Amino acid sequence: MNNFSALIQDLVIANRILANEEVVDAYGHVSVRHPDNPNRFLIARSLAPELVEPDDIVELDLDGQPVREERRSLYLERFIHAAIFAARPEVMAVVHAHAEDTLPFSIAQETKLRPVIHSGSFIGAEVPVWDIADNFGDTNLLVTNMAQARDLAKCLGGNSAALMRGHGFAAAARSLIEVVRLSVYLPRNARALTRARQLGGEIKYLSQGEIDARNRGYSPYSVETWRAWEYWASKAGCGHLLTRPDGEHADPPKG
Ligand SMILES: [Zn+2]
Repeated sequence: MNNFSALIQDLVIANRILANEEVVDAYGHVSVRHPDNPNRFLIARSLAPELVEPDDIVELDLDGQPVREERRSLYLERFIHAAIFAARPEVMAVVHAHAEDTLPFSIAQETKLRPVIHSGSFIGAEVPVWDIADNFGDTNLLVTNMAQARDLAKCLGGNSAALMRGHGFAAAARSLIEVVRLSVYLPRNARALTRARQLGGEIKYLSQGEIDARNRGYSPYSVETWRAWEYWASKAGCGHLLTRPDGEHADPPKG
């Protein structure tokens, strides 16, 4: 299998993992930058992530338009990915999702979403909240054009994730594995923080030193990182699609 096919497989796996971990449902999407052309990215056509197959992946430019003639429907909110890839050259993968546990933090203006659990360190010290109404007034809250998407990317800045008021979040990372991991732990961190606040008393957040220490120890292809990817993929029923970082297929294809 060549590297491009392996990347398409990884994108399919990422879709299935995010669905199985309930980060996305019928809605929400994940994309990866094209490995040979930084001005393009790969994302599924308009389809629930759980159902995505390699043939469903389309190639879009950084205005969110398909680079080849495409008769199938595309995600309405694909512009989110285009604007983040355009604004952040180092970002290789993007997720947009509506995970319910993150929503309260996009609405309650005085309560910041910050890391409180060790695996929450990936969300970064700050998770800004973008409110589409600030610059676009009354909308249906969906990001349906590049102007809105660029405004969101500006709010995201150099952070790993931004919440979208009353809607969901956008997350960006240097690889598919990282963006999936971040998107799985963002709602879990939010849930832990919500529950801790219900217990009452002062909240103890991860310190900047703790966040830095975890980032220093992180490698996208370490045994520990691969272990999570392999576990989530197997649990999502697509362990047979795994390609190890050395290019070896995880298991001989059956049949
Ligand atoms: Zn959305």
